[in-house]
This record gives sequence, C-alpha cells and structure tokens, in this order.
Amino acid sequence: MGWTRKILRVNLTKGTCTAEPLNMQWAQEYLGQRGLATKYFVEEVDPKVDPLSPDNKMIMATGPLTGTPASTGGRYSVITKGALTGAIACSNSGGYFGAEMKFAGWDMVIFEGKSPKPVYLSIEDDKVELRDAAHLWGQTVWATEEIIKKTHQDPQVRVCSIGRAGENGVLYACIVNDLHRAAGRSGVGTVMGSKNLKAVAIRGTKGAAGIKDGKAFMKAAAAAKKVLADNAVTGQGLPTYGTQVLMNVINEMGALPTRNHRDVQFEDARKISAEAMNEKRPSDGKSHLVTNAACFGCTIACGRISKIDEKHFSVVNKPQYWGASGGLEYEAAWALGAANGVGDLEALQYANLICNEDGYDPISFGATVGAAMELYDLGILTSKQIGMDAPFGSAAALVKLAEMTAKGEGFGKELGLGSARLCEKYGRPELSMGVKKQEFPAYDARGIQGMGLAYATSNRGACHLRGYTVASEVLGIPVKTDPLVTEGKADLVKAFQDATSVFDSAGVCVFTTFAWTLADLQPQLDAACEGDWTMEKLAVVGERIWNMERLFNNAAGFTAKDDDLPIRLKTEPAKTGPAKGLVSGLDKMKPEYYKARGWDDKGVPSKETLARLGL
Ligand code: SF4
Repeated sequence: MGWTRKILRVNLTKGTCTAEPLNMQWAQEYLGQRGLATKYFVEEVDPKVDPLSPDNKMIMATGPLTGTPASTGGRYSVITKGALTGAIACSNSGGYFGAEMKFAGWDMVIFEGKSPKPVYLSIEDDKVELRDAAHLWGQTVWATEEIIKKTHQDPQVRVCSIGRAGENGVLYACIVNDLHRAAGRSGVGTVMGSKNLKAVAIRGTKGAAGIKDGKAFMKAAAAAKKVLADNAVTGQGLPTYGTQVLMNVINEMGALPTRNHRDVQFEDARKISAEAMNEKRPSDGKSHLVTNAACFGCTIACGRISKIDEKHFSVVNKPQYWGASGGLEYEAAWALGAANGVGDLEALQYANLICNEDGYDPISFGATVGAAMELYDLGILTSKQIGMDAPFGSAAALVKLAEMTAKGEGFGKELGLGSARLCEKYGRPELSMGVKKQEFPAYDARGIQGMGLAYATSNRGACHLRGYTVASEVLGIPVKTDPLVTEGKADLVKAFQDATSVFDSAGVCVFTTFAWTLADLQPQLDAACEGDWTMEKLAVVGERIWNMERLFNNAAGFTAKDDDLPIRLKTEPAKTGPAKGLVSGLDKMKPEYYKARGWDDKGVPSKETLARLGL
C-alpha cells in the first residue's frame, strides 16, 4: 500500500496522541521502516542521550510493502538508541503486528517522554488512546496478550508487549508480538519498559490501499514469489528445516562458536540441529517439531512450532509449557546450546520459551551465560556467587539461569546486564564475545572472515542481520566467495550492508535475500510507491541509510576503536576444522572497508561521501 502518509506521535509524559502527515520528501530519500524512522529519530534525538531517559524516543515503523501482498510483507521495526549498546538500534520483527499497523492507517508511531504510570496504547483505526496498564505490569508477554484480547473482546487484535525482563531492566529485553515474534536485539524492550509502556494493541480495518499501480504491483509480486518458490533455500530448505538447518553446515565448516568461542566446533551440534528437531525422541516417541509457520504474507514459512517433551526435567509439573509454541530457530539454538556447550534440545527449547514468555533476547542471554560459564571454569565466579554449579554443558544451569533472568532474581540480575558488563565487573572484559557491548550471533569470525568485518562495523553492534555475508561465503548467494580469505571482503560487506538497509526499509523479510537481489525488490517498490524507484536510486538510499546511522553513532561517541573484535578472535587460532590455525583478519580488512565506504582512517565519512549521499 505504499505509505499511508500518516504517523502517530504519542507523548507519554503528557498522555497525548497526535496524528501528523508523513514527511514525503524524507520518504523519497529514506523509503520507510528502518531508513525513514531512523531519519525521524536522528532529527529529533540528541545522540548523547541516555537510552533509558525520557528524552530517548522509540519509533515503531512499517515499510511501504508492509501489509501488501508482497511475499513476507508483514515486517515492522523498532528504532531507538539501544539500551544494551548505546548505539542506534533497529530491531525488526515479523508476525502480524506490522501489517495490522498499516491496516489501521499508520506508517509509524513515535513514542516520546515517559508515562508517570504503566500504560498501553490502544489503536483501533483512527481511535487512539493510552489506557491504564497497572493490571498488566508484572505480567509476562503471553499473559499480557491474553488479557488485552479479553479486554478488547477481539481475538484478532494484534499485540506487542514487553515481559518482566523489560520491566526489570534486562538490558537486552525484546518487544514480542504474536507470542513468539520479536524485535529482539539491542534492548529495544528495555527502552519501552523505561517509558512505562507495557504494550501496543492494534486493530486495523482499512485493509491495503494506496498502491501506485495495482496491476503492475501484483505482477511484480507474483514474479518475485516465483523466484522464492524456485530457489532451493527459500523454496525447500527454510520451509522444511527452518534456519536451524545451518547448525551442521556451520559446524562442519569450523565456524560454530562453542563454549564462549574457545572452540569452533561443537561435538553435540547434531543433537541440537534441524535434523534432530524432526526425529522421534526416544523418551516419548514424538518429534520435537510439530509444524512450520509463516509470518503475514510469507511464502517461505521458515518459522518452527514445537512441542517440548513433557517428561523433561525442565517442564515436569509445568503443563503451561507443554503446548505447541515457537522455536527453535538457528540463532537461539546456537546461543542457548553450542555457546554454552549444552547439547540438550529440550533444555534449549525451554530456555527459548522463557525468553519468549518474558521478552528477552536469547542470543545475548545465551552468550552471556557462555561468558559466565567461562568465568566459572576459570574460578573467577563461584557456585556460591552464581547460586549453583555452572560448568560448560550444564543444561540444569541454563534452565535455572533463564528463569532467574526472567524474574530478575539473584545472579539472573547480573546476567541481565549482558556479557560486556558482566566480564568487566569480574575483571576479564576480554572474555565478552561481542562488539559495541552486543553479543555475537552464531558464526565464528575465524571461519567466516567476512562476518568478522560485518560484526565489527555493524551499526547496532555484533549482528548477522546487518550484512549477512554467510549467504555468499557459505551458501554461494549471489556468488560463492571463500570464507577463509580476507581478499574482497571489504566490498562484499559494504554491498550486503547497503542492500540490507533497503530490504529492512521496504517492509519485507531479509530472508528473501537468499533468493532475491535488489532487482527482484525494485519492481515491487516501483509499482507500490509514488515516485521512480530505480535500481540506482535504491543503491543510493541503502548507502545513505548506512551512513546516516554511522553519523549518529559517531556523534554518540563511537570511534574506529569500537569497530573491533575481542582479542580472542584476533590472536587465538581456530583449533579444528577447515579454519584450523586461522585468526580473524579484521585488521587487514578494516582499512580496506573504510576506503570502500569513502570514510577517513578514523571511520568518519568524508565531505565528498556525505555530499554524494545528500547527507
Ligand atoms: S521467512 Fe521466516 S521470519 Fe521471514 S517472514 Fe517468512 S516466516 Fe517470517
């Protein structure tokens, strides 16, 4: 539907909700969702703002393809200054919430200030109000959604909310919608909690409208869907196995970070793989996986719906966890599993359910447990401090620590601050495996060299979704590159980062890029959106968005020093697998990358670059 041309501004301090016209010039320059909301954000917020102060703002934004028949067109993003990182944050989620925002007639909602008491925002088309949320405060995500649906007497109302993690100051709290879809990284849920905003409930009845050329759009969308269906990854691999299909692949490559990146291969990888999800459990003869699932309008359907073994120690006498629910995805399975040396699939699923139920990022949580287990292994943390024995591989510790983090109890309070602050506190900052205080996802920078550069230069801290060179280095999409070399990776990372900025701003899922290039997205955008959306224009938009985010981070105090990896990855060679003997070649790639970007050697965009991009 292109843009609705309407945004909602909610001042939580004053309790006001105001409609404003969308700035259409900015829409032409920044497209939507990630790009356009970040433009609003950087224009309105001081880069030095404390992420948890009322002066920080938080924007929930759709893209021009959100709510349309474009495949995967159900996405929305949350843009703010990240609680975990202090950098620009943009966390993207699927499910049905984003499309509902569009159906209600809003391109984005800007939240500012801080409510004096807990509230939630109710949107029914143009009827918008802040409602008391005293009865919701202290509730989990799952309970909150249920209560709101009952209150509204409408099972189709779409809800996003924070759980107890976002209330209790877990610095990597998520915003969860549709029970198990999350704007997951960088602590956007923590920012929401700091504003006393518990949830947003949306019901939209306006449907899709406003597409520039309906006929051309349907033709372009159908052609692009065929590309997804015909592609082996998006047409077969992801629907059948989900993202977890990568577990064995990445392990064999020697790029599966294990035990806080001490190792690059996990001996129990198979036990936590997609293949294991499909096998019958010896305990009850049932398979873990129940079915696959799709977000709004998605023809890939990578989502997993699973059932936990009712006799597993984590859920004995807890029937509320016996039903079918979301998970596992690759990143969560890795972070809760290999990162800690835990090979118990049911324990991973349970910890993942707790992350969904109480709204916190399983990647940062799992990796922080990994750091804690290393501190325990080194004798720096004791059983008494943690409240239990916590050696690598302990499923019991993982399960208990997940519960404690959700409730903000005991050592869970320390885990909730993330690995950087934890390792700093105990005198070993170098053992935090992340960038800009955000923990790595599931690819080791020694075995996939391009990912090391992508992590180090990611604008939101370590992240696989800002420049997923795994597509090229592992899967050969769009062309195969050698994962073990640094040559050519600067240009590759830049190309992935700029293209991803466009996909994240369009309203579609980045997993389409396993099959689509910008050339598949462009005809859909050009038919949907006012103006001429050429390939050349999209290329500039992507680069402009990346540089805009960089300028914000630079002004917030980040420098070239922060574009770095933990010393372990640069000095401790991979012990096994194809990357055996290798360390990350970041120090060689970084200057090449700055040059490719048109930045100086301090990582600052040159005047010429800014002028070229209209910044
Ligand atoms: S590919 Fe997966 S995450 Fe992306 S929209 Fe489809 S189901 Fe959702």
